[in-house]
Amino acid sequence: MAALRVLELYSGIGGMHQALKESCVCAEVVAAVDVNTLANEVYKHNFPSTPLWAKTIEGITLKEFDRLSFDMILMSPPCQPFTRTGLQGDVSDPRTKSFLYVLDILPRLQKLPKYLLLENVKGFESSSARNELLRTLETCGFKYQEFLLSPTCLGIPNSRLRYFLIAKLHQEPFFFHVPGQLETAEEMVRKHTQDNDPSIQMIKDFLEEENEEMSQYFLAPKSLVRYAFLLDIVKPTCRRSTCFTKGYGHYVEGTGSVLQTAVDIQLESVFKHIENLTEEGKLMKLSTLKLRYFTPREIANLHGFPPEFGFPDKVSIKQCYRLLGNSLNVHVVAKLISILLG
Ligand code: SAH
Repeated sequence: MAALRVLELYSGIGGMHQALKESCVCAEVVAAVDVNTLANEVYKHNFPSTPLWAKTIEGITLKEFDRLSFDMILMSPPCQPFTRTGLQGDVSDPRTKSFLYVLDILPRLQKLPKYLLLENVKGFESSSARNELLRTLETCGFKYQEFLLSPTCLGIPNSRLRYFLIAKLHQEPFFFHVPGQLETAEEMVRKHTQDNDPSIQMIKDFLEEENEEMSQYFLAPKSLVRYAFLLDIVKPTCRRSTCFTKGYGHYVEGTGSVLQTAVDIQLESVFKHIENLTEEGKLMKLSTLKLRYFTPREIANLHGFPPEFGFPDKVSIKQCYRLLGNSLNVHVVAKLISILLG
C-alpha cells in the first residue's frame, strides 16, 4: 500500500508527526509548515528528513498546495484567539487569518484530502472559527466527529483538556464508542480531576532520576514565599498534575504543577499557621518541601514524547517550556489517528 501523504500545518516541535509515527500508519509527512524559527530547529532535530517549510501558511499558494497532493491534514492552529482567559478574538483575531485561509483553500484543491485532524483549546467548540470549519467540511462532503479530551482519559496524570476534530471524506458516518465526545466532556473532567483514581498512573512513572543538574529546577526562595499559596503542589505518588502552559518556569500562577521532592513531609503541616510566621520563618518551612519545577524532559514524558525525542543544545530551558506548552499529548492524538483511519 502506498504511504499516506500527510500535510502538517502549524507543526511546532512536531507533536502531530510524533503521534502519526506512534499510530503505526503507513504515512509520510510531505510538508510541515511553521513560522517559529526555534520550533523549526527542534522539528528538524527530530525529523531531519521531513521537508520543513519555514513560512507563513497564508503565503502558500493554491498551486503549491495542489503540488503536494496530500491525503491528510494534521493541524493545530494558534489557540490564543479561543482560550477562555484570552481576549477571545475568534475570527477577528489576526492569528486566525491563516486558518481561515486554509478553509478557503480546501474546497478549491484539485484533490480533496481523505482525512483531517485538528487540535485546539477548549473554547474552540463555541467559536465562529469552528462554525466556519464545519461549514467548509460539510460543503466538501466530509463526515466529522468532535471531542473534548484530556490525557487523563488514557490514564496519564496530566490535565490538558483539548478540542479535537477528525474528519473523513465521503464515507459512512463515524460510530464511536470512546468516552469524551463533546456531550460527555463535563462528566469526564469531573471524574478525572480526582487524585485517587487507580486507573491513572502515578507522577513518579514520568520523572527523571534526581541528579546534580536538578538543582537548577528548585524554586527560588523569593518565589517560594511570594507564591506559596498559588502553587499547585504534587508528590511523585499523586495521580494528577495541572496543564503545563508556555509560561511554565517563568510565571507561577496557573502554568502547571510543581513537584514536592521531600516526600515524607506533610503539606498540611507546612501550611498550617504559616501566615503567622515571619518571612524567614515561612521560607524555612516551605523549603522543607524541596519544591522543584518539572523538567522539560518530564513534561515531554507526560505529553507522550518518546525518550529519543530531544531538543538541540542551544534551546534554553525556558524555551523548551514555551515550546512544550504549545504542543500536545502525543498518545491522545495517536489514538485519534487510529480511530480516524480505523
Ligand atoms: N502542534 C504543534 C504546536 C502548534 S502551536 C506542536 O506539537 O508543537 C501553533 C504553531 O503555529 C506555532 O508553532 C506557531 O509558530 C505556528 N503559527 C502560527 N501562525 C502561523 C502562520 N500564520 N503560519 C505558519 N505557522 C504559524
